[in-house]
Amino acid sequence: MPTSKNGGGRLSPPAISALGLRKTYGGKTVLDGIDLHIPDGSVFALLGPNGAGKTTVVKILSTLVTADAGDLRVGGHDLAADPQAVRAAIGVTGQFSAVDGLITGEENMLLMADLHHLSRREGRRVTAELLERFDLTEAAKKPASTYSGGMKRRLDIAMTLVGDPRIIFLDEPTTGLDPRSRHTMWGIIRELVSDGVTVFLTTQYLEEADELADRIAVLNDGRIAAEGTAEELKRIVPGGHVRLRFTDPAAYHSAATALREVQRDDEALALQIPSGGSQRELRALLDRLDSAGVEADDLTVHTPDLDDVFFALTGGAAVPHQPKEAVR
Ligand code: ADP
Repeated sequence: MPTSKNGGGRLSPPAISALGLRKTYGGKTVLDGIDLHIPDGSVFALLGPNGAGKTTVVKILSTLVTADAGDLRVGGHDLAADPQAVRAAIGVTGQFSAVDGLITGEENMLLMADLHHLSRREGRRVTAELLERFDLTEAAKKPASTYSGGMKRRLDIAMTLVGDPRIIFLDEPTTGLDPRSRHTMWGIIRELVSDGVTVFLTTQYLEEADELADRIAVLNDGRIAAEGTAEELKRIVPGGHVRLRFTDPAAYHSAATALREVQRDDEALALQIPSGGSQRELRALLDRLDSAGVEADDLTVHTPDLDDVFFALTGGAAVPHQPKEAVR
């Protein structure tokens, strides 16, 4: 399993840690011994197909459901011994959001401020500030039931921030959102992180994990199938290649003859060579081209994308795809 070289919070205690987390529902093992270590101030994505157990992990770590076993710590507090302290340190927004559709966005916020025992004046100040920050000022006096999906999610996050949590759980924050709202949500999440908040995110979207997360764990069959940075995960699976492009047909043909295992594209004068993209492999390739006396006009290294990783690790479970424009 790959490990991070820049394990950000090695000196400070992790924001979230789990050792041997287990959960069974009516004889069915949903989580079969999960270990997590999430450094303070980082974004962690738990990626998995539908039914993998992502929401169960979030519910357990946010004290809504108790684990059967596991040494669990959130915000430096032991989950079993001090769930109250954990609750005070975290914010949770999920698919089952706390937004009450019958009252206005502003009233939802003020209710939250009351729950956090803010004074009336402070509650109003925080509400106005957060509504402004999440572009909801104009809609503040309308019932939340009239809000679009994206606006409801933004209100949900704004409500979570009333308590100024240092750790936020976002359970599938962009599921069901259109691409524009999804990008807005990504911006919001990045902003939270730049404020130093730790974000625990679950997602079915590979691109989302790739865009946002410092580290990604793939949950499959009740276990963490792999964990690492997006780049580390991509290196697990084959599928990488080098693409060489030529403008001179003679050079193209010489290169195709000099290299073994090439896939030719005669029309584009391009060659594709399987490669993990390591320096050693690239040097060997360039040496062979040099010996043949040819020079490519363009060389690009392609690493496999998270799709390849996900399908390799989860046995090809179906996941919804995002439009390709979302891929970096
Ligand atoms: P995900 O969030 O990855 O889609 P969940 O954590 O919601 O997955 O569910 C994981 C598995 O646990 C599913 O098979 C689901 O049916 C089961 N499960 C979740 N909650 C309960 C519950 N309260 N009672 C029984 N089974 C449950």
